[in-house]
Amino acid sequence: MNCRKCQSTDFVKNGHIKKKQRYKCKKCDSQWTENHKHRGRPLAERALAVFLYCHGLSMNAISKMLDTAPSTLLKWIRNFSNQHAHPPEPQTDAVVLELDEMWHYLKEKKQTLGLEGVLS
Ligand SMILES: [Zn+2]
Repeated sequence: MNCRKCQSTDFVKNGHIKKKQRYKCKKCDSQWTENHKHRGRPLAERALAVFLYCHGLSMNAISKMLDTAPSTLLKWIRNFSNQHAHPPEPQTDAVVLELDEMWHYLKEKKQTLGLEGVLS
């Protein structure tokens, strides 16, 4: 038997609940009982919700379809995003400008950009 959260084998008995032995993980303090039923929606359903969201369906529509709260759906999407999506590597040749710097930059470049009439 392993911890449900961190898969550690370092756990102790921690009393009984509803006549079942309860265990407590020494590493992450999570508690569980034997033959514990998994709570929450199955992975396939959560994955389907994220898939539909990524293809443009609104969160309200998906939550009505799957009979769940939009806040729950948002939690599934965030979890999926944290697990699978990584921000793109910044491009090394990109020019980063603050908004107030941008104004000066555009004033200097107005002739090459053709903005003589726009910026005075
Ligand atoms: Zn643990």
